[in-house]
Amino acid sequence: MLYKEYGPQHWWPGETQDEIVIGAVLTQNTAWKNVERAIANLSKNGLLSLDAIAREDVERIARLIQSCGYYNIKAKRLKNVAEFLTSYKDKRNCEQFRNALLKVNGVGKETADSILLYAFDLPVFVVDAYTRRIFSRLGIIKGTEPYDEISKMFISSLPKSVRVYNEYHALIVRHGKERCRKRPLCSECVLRDKCQNALQHQR
Ligand code: SF4
Repeated sequence: MLYKEYGPQHWWPGETQDEIVIGAVLTQNTAWKNVERAIANLSKNGLLSLDAIAREDVERIARLIQSCGYYNIKAKRLKNVAEFLTSYKDKRNCEQFRNALLKVNGVGKETADSILLYAFDLPVFVVDAYTRRIFSRLGIIKGTEPYDEISKMFISSLPKSVRVYNEYHALIVRHGKERCRKRPLCSECVLRDKCQNALQHQR
């Protein structure tokens, strides 16, 4: 239904694999427009590649990504990820790759899965705050379950396809921004007839 409503989302918004990874790290706790400014700055300064970031000083990276907030932490995190990805070899073994990526300082499950799915086309399902909000309002989850429990639920109910996981998560984000906001716009929502929250509150 969301696909019918919004159409294909063409995610991730990035030209290259390296740019997708960089965006996935920088987007934590900030709006995408701030990430775009940081990516433009990195690009202008020859740093829109993981090889270049892995060799660069953290302080210089931090100065270029200031628009993203928490820039000192994010610069260190970005360099950690770049160092890891430029040296880690076996990127086709999804489970091992994920476990190794999760050991990189500052990388949580949402960031790791965004990198695996959108940069490396690996079959993982990304769970974010929009997923928890929308599907708890629908009455499908409580919203407080551990990350992996929710992720597994989606993987077991959807066709095993990177393309499906890619599009499904992108549509969730779109719906969370456009309709199922903090104050939901239920009267304009295609899911309202199936939504516990809307039925309870007669929105
Ligand atoms: S009906 Fe309202 S609460 Fe339910 S998914 Fe739609 S916008 Fe969210």
